[in-house]
Amino acid sequence: MLVMERVRDIQRACRDIKALGDTIGFVPTMGAFHEGHLSLIRAAREECDKVVVSIFVNPTQFGPAEDFQSYPRDLENDKKAAENEGVDLIFAPTSREMYPLGFCTEVEVKGDITSRLCGASREGHFKGVTTVVNKLMNIVGPDIAYFGMKDAQQALVIKRMVKDLNMPVNVRTMPVVREEDGLAMSSRNINLSDREREQALNIYKALKTAERMAREGAGSAGPIRSAAMDILSQGKDVTVEYVEIADPDTLDPISEISGEALMLVAARVGETRLIDNIVLEREENRAR
Ligand code: AMP
Repeated sequence: MLVMERVRDIQRACRDIKALGDTIGFVPTMGAFHEGHLSLIRAAREECDKVVVSIFVNPTQFGPAEDFQSYPRDLENDKKAAENEGVDLIFAPTSREMYPLGFCTEVEVKGDITSRLCGASREGHFKGVTTVVNKLMNIVGPDIAYFGMKDAQQALVIKRMVKDLNMPVNVRTMPVVREEDGLAMSSRNINLSDREREQALNIYKALKTAERMAREGAGSAGPIRSAAMDILSQGKDVTVEYVEIADPDTLDPISEISGEALMLVAARVGETRLIDNIVLEREENRAR
């Protein structure tokens, strides 16, 4: 496994792979690996000849008051985990390498898909994500890129960008990987105190309650959302940012569930911002 910091080196290595006719599976990450990241790497390993992983805590997707400085970083451990999973190339650039002096181009997906939910509270976040993912795709030139449904809105925004800009890459989305008790894995989880970790579980409990209510026939979003809010507000250190039920393809809010819906939650637990989501499906739809 090779680890590269320079754009020109990884670009050359990827060009060489493709010249041999091999396919590249690409997993963009911010590092501090957990099983969620590894699930994407395994999917890439299974489907593609070569696996390229980027590790870059992208400053442009963090707001000025956000946790860029305290975001977990553990490159040495990540390298070991990647090597274990059979990753071929790691691209771990510095900020200066990605944003050299004079950098002034941005890629922005406009409209509701980026302005609602996480876009409403994290101004400029998705612009930072699409700009960096666009750069990474240009550098690596993957056949297939892998994203987790943990960041459902991000996955949809990336798909939109790839479609709108005719980017020659297939995007795969993979299911949310959870801790044994249900908490969605996140690099940020290690910043939770024991007390916060306990309360963070309320996010999962709220989602599971919503899932059960929908399965048992509840169709109106209102009562499902209030039940979820009740559970979330039991955590003293939990501040809810949003609890929404939305169309899984457009993220348009849904008031009556027919077919599949996505319930999405963002909440701060202490200082740590967590997101999660679950698919809601009514019993009568499942039967069909
Ligand atoms: P991050 O390093 O947090 O930016 O995540 C890198 C990729 O891993 C993104 O596509 C995330 O959606 C995905 N990911 C993060 N956590 C999980 C999880 N718990 N389950 C599945 N995918 C995840």
